[in-house]
This record gives sequence, C-alpha cells and structure tokens, in this order.
Amino acid sequence: MSYEYQERDVKKQPDRELTFGTGRFSGFCSATLGCLSLAAVLAYLYPSYLTTTDLRAVYDANKLQEVLKYGMWFSLFFGVITLILNKKKVLGIIGVSSTLIAFALGGYTIPVGPVEAKPLALGVDWLILAFLGSTIIFTTLEKLFPKYKDQPIFRDEWGLDFLYFCINHLLISVLLLIGNFVVAKFHWAMSDTLQGAVQSIPVIYQVVIALIVADFILYWEHRSFHEVGKLWPFHAVHHSVETMDWMAGSRSHIGQTIIERSLVMLALYLVGFDKAALDAYVTIAALQAIIIHCNINVPFGPIKYLFVTPQYHHWHHSSESPAIDTNYAAHTTLFDRLFGTYHMPVEHWPAHYGTTKRLPRNFKGQFLYPFK
Ligand SMILES: [Zn+2]
Repeated sequence: MSYEYQERDVKKQPDRELTFGTGRFSGFCSATLGCLSLAAVLAYLYPSYLTTTDLRAVYDANKLQEVLKYGMWFSLFFGVITLILNKKKVLGIIGVSSTLIAFALGGYTIPVGPVEAKPLALGVDWLILAFLGSTIIFTTLEKLFPKYKDQPIFRDEWGLDFLYFCINHLLISVLLLIGNFVVAKFHWAMSDTLQGAVQSIPVIYQVVIALIVADFILYWEHRSFHEVGKLWPFHAVHHSVETMDWMAGSRSHIGQTIIERSLVMLALYLVGFDKAALDAYVTIAALQAIIIHCNINVPFGPIKYLFVTPQYHHWHHSSESPAIDTNYAAHTTLFDRLFGTYHMPVEHWPAHYGTTKRLPRNFKGQFLYPFK
C-alpha cells in the first residue's frame, strides 16, 4: 500500500519573532553579547580552567580581545535601546548588567600571558566561538533558504537544546580525554605498514577515505542505537526533538556522545591518517552534522542522491511509518543504499518529527530516561 505523504503545518508565532522596532531584536543582541562577554572575561581571568588546550593553539587571545571590546560596547548600546523600546526590559537588564560585571572584572584589558595546560578544563572559549560562528552562519542560512518560513528562531524547546549545545561544548576536554584513553588501549592494533601506506596517499584522497571509514562506523553505531533494545532509550533523546533547526542536532545523551566520538576517533587513528586529513575530516563532519538538522531547503541537485542532506536527515527524524529506522548514515547515502535502509521520497518532507512514544521534556528527565 502506498503511503499518503502530507504537508507539515507550521503556523506563524508572532509573539516569538524578533520583530524590529519592538526592542526584541536589540534585547536578544544585548543579552547574548553581554553573557558571552562575561563568559569571555572569566575565561581570560582563569584560562587554565576555562579554555581548551588544543583550541588555544589555533586562535590569538590578544586579537580576540579586540572582538570582546566591540562585543561589550555593542551589548551596552543594544541594552539601552531595549530599555527604551521594550516594555518588559528583562533582556536589556540582563545584557547591561552582565556587561557591567564584565567591565568590573577587568573587561577587555586583562593581560594575556602563558597558560598552564590542565588535562581537564571547561571549554568556555570553544562554547563562545562555536555559538557566535554557528549563530551567524546557520541563522543566516535558515533565514535565506528556510524550509519552514514561519518557524521562529526561538521555537518550542529552543532553551533545552541550547542547554545541550552548552554542555557538549563545555565538556570538550572530557570527550577528548575519554577518546584518547580508548585510542591508547588499542595501541597494539596499530600497524606501521598500514599507516605508512595511508600517509603516502595525497591528503585530499585521505579525506575521502576518512569520510567513508567514519560513515561505515557511524552507520553501524547509529543502527545499533536504533535496533538494539537497551541502546534505543539513549538515542531516543536525540529523536525527541520535534522541531528541526541548527540547534536541534545538539540534543544528544552524553552516554551516546561519548561512545560515538570514541569509536570514530579510534577508527581514524587506527587507519593512521595524516593530521591535515583528520583536521579536514573533523571540520567537514562538524559542519555537515549541523547542516543536516537545519531548517533549510536548498536545491542540492544530484548531490542529494550521494550525500546526506537536510531533507535526507529530516526523514530520519520523522515519526511517520515509512521513515522509521531509515537513513542512518552521517555523510554519504552509500551504506543506507547498500544495507537496505534508504528512504528518500524527493518530492516530500516529513509532516511529523519526534519519537512515537514521547520522552520527558526536560534535561534531567531525558538524562535519566535510559536508566529507568
Ligand atoms: Zn537516529
């Protein structure tokens, strides 16, 4: 019997829109910049505990203080506009007061010196940079090419997914530490011959091989989380999202995140790719993981038959019967086609997202869900 696909019904929610002239947009800018500035100032004060060792090597802390300077002054500027325009004034008060505390703690003039590396630290720097970068890139894409034009940025459960976003980024050093621990346990399985052979291949081809190796691992890891009864409640947390956008992909049980990252890290290290190839793979994988959850509809042309796109992964999140337990792949459609789990009705998008059995709607309930 053929399935009757339906259109998703997304209604306008004017009370959630950041309409210009009402003080909501300026309130959002002020509160965001104020909170990020305060977090950045704390990271400058306690870099050993609040910044990521690997990431510090990539950015220039002195140059970022210039960005912080603009962030703080703009937060005050938007805060004043909000206090004038917005009746509630809450966001303006949050923005202005957090910026004033940031100024009182030293603001953008805290001297930058050598940092003692600690094995465990909170990735406050990683959180700030990822949030700023992702908001600019993916909110722009979602506004330029929306699938659901009337879906507001601050949709239902945005706050819950933002909490997941913060935790995933703050715990980066924990995830890396566990990944490195797992890799070290498998040192005996590393082969110099294999690594030598792989590293003699041009980097661009190494990236392609890394994508396919990781895709294979992620396919079976993901499929196991769906089809093994005891594992599903962990992954159900990720599927409890009922509105798709760039923030939605952040929702994931920490137990699954640890297993997933460690498995991919182990596979890639065993094959022995060049560092440049690994860096390129990690960047592509991170961007693709966000894009496929986005509320965007871009005409991908023939690419949509080869690579995992938003439409493809949205189908994976659908609670409609033909889509259940399909589209497991993370990068290419290869393994879904090969192992019979491919579902892509190109003319249609899902009408319903989420799990068939509803999960708790808060962080604590979702964290404890697999243990009940
Ligand atoms: Zn899934």
